[in-house]
Amino acid sequence: MELIYRTVFTKRKTLGITVERDCSVVVHAPEGTDPELIRRTIEAKKQWLYAKTRHPQKDREPPHPPGKELVSGESILYLGRHYLIEIVDREGFAIEFRNRFIIPRARAESRGEVFREWLKARARERILPRVRTQAQTLGVTYEEAKITDGHCRWGSCTPDGNLNFNWRLIKAPLFAIDYVIAHELAHLIEPNHSPRFWNIVRTAVAQMDKAKEWLKENGQLLEQDL
Ligand SMILES: [Zn+2]
Repeated sequence: MELIYRTVFTKRKTLGITVERDCSVVVHAPEGTDPELIRRTIEAKKQWLYAKTRHPQKDREPPHPPGKELVSGESILYLGRHYLIEIVDREGFAIEFRNRFIIPRARAESRGEVFREWLKARARERILPRVRTQAQTLGVTYEEAKITDGHCRWGSCTPDGNLNFNWRLIKAPLFAIDYVIAHELAHLIEPNHSPRFWNIVRTAVAQMDKAKEWLKENGQLLEQDL
């Protein structure tokens, strides 16, 4: 199993490996470091890096927001836009989405759970077909695409061709979702973040830079459920 990392050459004297907020691995190396040495260093740290990129470390977790209170007048982020929540006295449904979220008062207690399930269902419904379409466009095949519940990254791919997408990605605008999909699919062609890799992604998603910017600014959404 190959670990994907990015090398940044700096004026520093020693090699340093960091795990970024999005769980990508970055090697800071002195100018002119032999790539073979970098590869061996990564190899030696492999266990530590896997542990770190798979399970968010305690010290990297943000202080948990004190269980966000969902009440009328508050909003939920969906496809890059905030929509207001309205609590109504009608019964017999979980959530209605009509340019705002409508939930029955009876569900108000468990609304956190209700919204999570709703967003997860939308993630499966909207993200997975886009993976199929983009894979066709890029001419790549994959084993299986799934919506997962990781806290670490928006998307990931495994060497045996499985793709995972975090359900919280459904909170992002479609251009950002398309970028994450293209990013993971492009890794099936090119494992490293090489210029060739970025060319493939950019060809698939014209708004790549805008998407990266959005995800960078809104990355903390990954750690929040709603
Ligand atoms: Zn990548």
